[in-house]
Amino acid sequence: MARVVQKFGGSSVADAESIARVARRVVETQQEGNEVVVVISAMGDATDDLMDLAQRVNPNPPGRELDMLLTAGERISAALLAMAIDARGATAVSYTGSQAGVITTAAHGNARIIDITPGRIVSALNQGHVVIVAGFQGVAQDTKDVTTLGRGASDTTAVALAAALGAEYCEIYTDVDGVFTADPRIAPQARRIPQINYEEMLELAANGAKILHLRCVEYARREQVPVHVRSSFSDQPGTWVVAAPDIPSGGIMEDALITGVAHDLSEAKVTVVGVPDRPGRAARVFEVIAALDVNIDMIVQNASVSDDTTAISFTLADADRPRAIEGLRLAQRDIGFTDIIYDDMIGKVSVIGVGMRSHPGVTARFFSALATIGINISMIATSEIRISVVVGEDDVPAAVRAAHTAFGLDSESGEAVVYAGTGR
Ligand code: ADP
Ligand code: ASP
Ligand code: MG
Repeated sequence: MARVVQKFGGSSVADAESIARVARRVVETQQEGNEVVVVISAMGDATDDLMDLAQRVNPNPPGRELDMLLTAGERISAALLAMAIDARGATAVSYTGSQAGVITTAAHGNARIIDITPGRIVSALNQGHVVIVAGFQGVAQDTKDVTTLGRGASDTTAVALAAALGAEYCEIYTDVDGVFTADPRIAPQARRIPQINYEEMLELAANGAKILHLRCVEYARREQVPVHVRSSFSDQPGTWVVAAPDIPSGGIMEDALITGVAHDLSEAKVTVVGVPDRPGRAARVFEVIAALDVNIDMIVQNASVSDDTTAISFTLADADRPRAIEGLRLAQRDIGFTDIIYDDMIGKVSVIGVGMRSHPGVTARFFSALATIGINISMIATSEIRISVVVGEDDVPAAVRAAHTAFGLDSESGEAVVYAGTGR
């Protein structure tokens, strides 16, 4: 008997009808002779709605209470799915993350899984039940408080459970037919990638492709869990995320330079102006940021101008921007810079692929595709298998489509299907 973990995202359980459809799929999987553990997200945009509500009563809500609130979303869908499975004549038990044995750090809103003690899950499976676990939550080892693992982290719950339970693979059911060469919501000409390796999937996820939560991919790679990303609205095969695809890297064309194009609208650019051009000043700027536990993405230092000062620009999550700016302001006199400005109307577009390792000319092709349509690049970063640029937020969709076309990724066989969801 095989053990399977199936995760259903918010748009797959947005209403009663969808929950019934998911129940049917789960029961069928069990009837095929599998032990089934289901990880479920909150219904539709429920988490965003709860966030909005919290903001209205307190613009800066205490992390503990926010987690108490947000975990309720997954609890609702878990219980409803258990009822829907019961209505189909099978038995199911739903658990909160805490009941399921998901032990985490105490970092509210961004807790990490430390351990999974799946005793209750295993005994429920042994009794023939379908087990449903509320996604993206756990309980802190130290404080015993309820925690959440970060937005989109039900994917991570699913892969972590698959590893802890020795499941053969983990299925991630969502509102598109798999991982595509770009987000089908903005690039309808995107193609489904049949197989992709962990490394490229990590780059895509790290650079904004929210189809999979970044830590879920890290977990899958570390624990060698094969992940099948597919649609809950169709029976089409999806994308297998695995260590070594048996189709050439990225899975589309033998000579593909680029596996996919990712975009990210969640960052902002901060520029520290008039930084004295002396050893140690840049270090001080980033020491301030590091002390706030804020992650920096790209950095650019402008060439020193005649007045012996320089400007340092960096990108970070827009959510961290107010804290970072406040921290820098407090250190302004000490560091000796003259001003801080920011721009939150930016977006990052990245082309990703292991194929670029051995091919010169990728940068030129990418930049000229943007130049042809008059898009201005304000920052650049590269790694061995990625080139990222920062452009104006409004330019992002056109930039993604232009890069996609320039690297020959456009599908000839019609538009990618987006079955549901609001893209929020
Ligand atoms: P779920 O609620 O099922 O977790 P998400 O909204 O988190 O779903 O992720 C699915 C969405 O990810 C898709 O609807 C799509 O808009 C977006 N997406 C971004 N990049 C990609 C990509 N490369 N391939 C497929 N989908 C992508
Ligand atoms: N419901 C949570 C969120 O919207 C977790 C998830 O769906 O993965 O972020
Ligand atoms: Mg998701």
